[in-house]
Amino acid sequence: MMDELRELYQEVILDHGKNPRNLRHPDDANREARGENPMCGDKFTVYLKVNDQKVVEDVAFEGRGCAISTASASMMTEVVKGKTAEEATALFHTFHDLCTKDDHEHCDHGPVDEEAMEKLMVLSGVRQFPVRVKCATLAWHAMNAALTGEAKASSE
Ligand code: ZN
Repeated sequence: MMDELRELYQEVILDHGKNPRNLRHPDDANREARGENPMCGDKFTVYLKVNDQKVVEDVAFEGRGCAISTASASMMTEVVKGKTAEEATALFHTFHDLCTKDDHEHCDHGPVDEEAMEKLMVLSGVRQFPVRVKCATLAWHAMNAALTGEAKASSE
């Protein structure tokens, strides 16, 4: 059963890696941040459209990366869309714990979308591979940087 589960998880990662969701540059994005992982060669730009109510109306990314980083970026866009900035930040920190810490070490980062975290569980296997941790968290770091950074000037 464990092997079957593992295979299923890999399928999800392979699927997102091959057919990434939201791989585009939205015209109306008002925030963006770049992320780079030189150890693997992953490079992404994450775009956000954050409205006046601080809700992430749209999230997308462009760039190139390995299967893990691409799958993680793709899944990130799916779970962050529609979240408030606060919820997205809590998801980022909780996901970061998932990729870097044992279960009992996880911190409380505020209320998180349990369903989203269940989806993201497939990536928790990277914990055993420090290089892969950077792949899996790259787009998330960029998303968080875009979220906390200044809104991009519309003239750009
Ligand atoms: Zn990578």
